[in-house]
Amino acid sequence: MAKIHVVCPHCGAINQLLEERLGEEPKCGKCHQALLPQHPVELAGAAFARFIDKNDLPVLVDFWAPWCAPCRAMAPQFEMAARRLRGHCLFAKLNTESDQATAGRFQIRSIPTMILFRGGRELARQSGAMNAPDIEAWLARQGISSRAS
Ligand code: ZN
Repeated sequence: MAKIHVVCPHCGAINQLLEERLGEEPKCGKCHQALLPQHPVELAGAAFARFIDKNDLPVLVDFWAPWCAPCRAMAPQFEMAARRLRGHCLFAKLNTESDQATAGRFQIRSIPTMILFRGGRELARQSGAMNAPDIEAWLARQGISSRAS
């Protein structure tokens, strides 16, 4: 039984749980809120670094900005993919306008850009808006799908 680390999206506590319990609505041991949120997590600064470094699950980040029309168009598609892949991949958003330091660190040149992280390392990135099926197909090519674990 593999134990994995999941960072609470609410308080940042690192929770350790059995992988097969991911499907049972796990709660944070510290703040008792849901560990696997229904919506992408808004991250910035130190919380961003902690979330991508300390999670054992892969994390897909949408680098976006409020003024970017393609980003706004993609947001509901990203939400839909997040719901479909819940428990398999964590979904997060980074507002490149309010957190320019993090956007700069990852050399984001166009938005929307999605970066897939695992263990703090970048596995893949993709620029341009995508719909939910395309996001899922792209993740499946990286070995992440709702069918396999
Ligand atoms: Zn918590």
